[in-house]
Amino acid sequence: MQKKVLIIGSGIAGISSSLKLKTYGIDSVLVDKGRFLGGRISSREVKNIDNIDYFFHGAQFFTAKSDNFKKIIEQGIKNNFIEEFGRFNPPRYRGYKSMRNFLSNLTFNLNIKQNNTIIDLKPNKKQITALNEKTKTWQSFDGVISTIPSPQNYDLMENFPKLRKTLVTSSYDSCIAFMFSINKRPENFPIYFDLYKKRGILSWMASGSNLNLWTAHTKGSYANKNLNQNKNQLQNEIFSAIQKVFSKWENSIEVYFHSLHIWKYAKVKKISSGLQIDPDFPVALAGDFMEGSNIESAFISGEKAANLIFNRLNQVS
Ligand SMILES: Cc1cc2nc3c(=O)[nH]c(=O)nc-3n(C[C@H](O)[C@H](O)[C@H](O)COP(=O)(O)OP(=O)(O)OC[C@H]3O[C@@H](n4cnc5c(N)ncnc54)[C@H](O)[C@@H]3O)c2cc1C
Repeated sequence: MQKKVLIIGSGIAGISSSLKLKTYGIDSVLVDKGRFLGGRISSREVKNIDNIDYFFHGAQFFTAKSDNFKKIIEQGIKNNFIEEFGRFNPPRYRGYKSMRNFLSNLTFNLNIKQNNTIIDLKPNKKQITALNEKTKTWQSFDGVISTIPSPQNYDLMENFPKLRKTLVTSSYDSCIAFMFSINKRPENFPIYFDLYKKRGILSWMASGSNLNLWTAHTKGSYANKNLNQNKNQLQNEIFSAIQKVFSKWENSIEVYFHSLHIWKYAKVKKISSGLQIDPDFPVALAGDFMEGSNIESAFISGEKAANLIFNRLNQVS
C-alpha cells in the first residue's frame, strides 16, 4: 500500500525531503503555518505602476557544492527561475525574479498546504498522528519529517524525547532585516556590502531585484539583544548605520525606510548533534540546524531525512 508521509515546514529542507521521497515513489504532504512557501527564503513584493520588484529580506543568495543542488541550479538557470547574483567566486545565485518564483518552480508537482500549523504529534501503534490547528483533526501518517527551527521543533516533540535530546543541542542567532530604497546609485556602486567583519551593528546589505531596493541585516549579537526593543528605536539605529556606510561613497545618497522584519531564529549558531531519526518511531528531523547555517545545508539535511524515513518504512513493511 502507498505510504503516507507528512512533512512539516515548506522551507528548503521540507521541499528537498519531499522531492527526495518522490524519487522513491512516495508522495508526501507538506504543511506550513505561513502564507508563503520557502520559510526563511523569502522575498517581499513592491508593486510599482508598471512592474513588481522584490526585497530579499530573508536569505540573500545561495551557493552550491553538492551535485544534487548544482543540478537544481542548472535547471533553474536554464528555465529562467534562477540567476547568478553578481560575480563572486564561488558563484552566488538567487531566485529570478524573486526567491518565491524559484521555489514555486521547484515544487510545482508537490502537494503543499500553506496556512496549516501542526500543533501536536503522537505515536499511534506503528503510525504517527498529527494535530492540525486549523482543522482541529488528528490525521495518521506512516512517517513524519519535521523541518521547523529546533526551538519550535522541541515544543512539538514532547512525545519523542530521544529527538528532543538532539534538538536542545543547537541554537540560533536572531536577525533584523531593514528594507529600504535609495534615490541614486553612484558609478561602480556595489550590489552587496559584506560588513560582517567590520565594526558596527550591520552584517551585510544587498540590493533587491531592482538595484535601488535594498535590505540591510543586523549582526546576531545586536539582534539577540534588541529583538524586543521599540521598533522606532531599532529603525533609527539601523538607519544611521546604513547612512554611515553609504556616506563613504557619496553623501547625497538618500535612504527611504520601507519596513522591518524580525527573524527570531535566523542563522544557526550551533549545529545539532545527535540522532536525526527516532530509533523507535518513524519521525525524522531536518533543517539547517542539523547540517549548517545556509540554504544548501538545509537542502542536504532534507534529503538525508527522506533517506532515513524511506529506509525505516521499508524495514517496517
Ligand atoms: C535574514 C537571513 C539571511 C540569511 N541569509 C542567507 C544567505 O544569504 N545564504 C544562505 O545560504 N542562507 C541564508 N540564511 C539561512 C537560510 O535562509 C536558512 O538556513 C534556510 O532557509 C533554512 O531552511 P529550513 O527549511 O531549514 O527552515 P525554514 O526556512 O525556517 O523553514 C521552516 C518552516 O517551518 C514552518 N513552521 C514552523 N512551525 C510550524 C508548524 N508548527 N507547523 C507547520 N509549519 C511550521 C515555518 O513557517 C517555515 O516555513 C539566512 C537566513 C536569514 C533569516
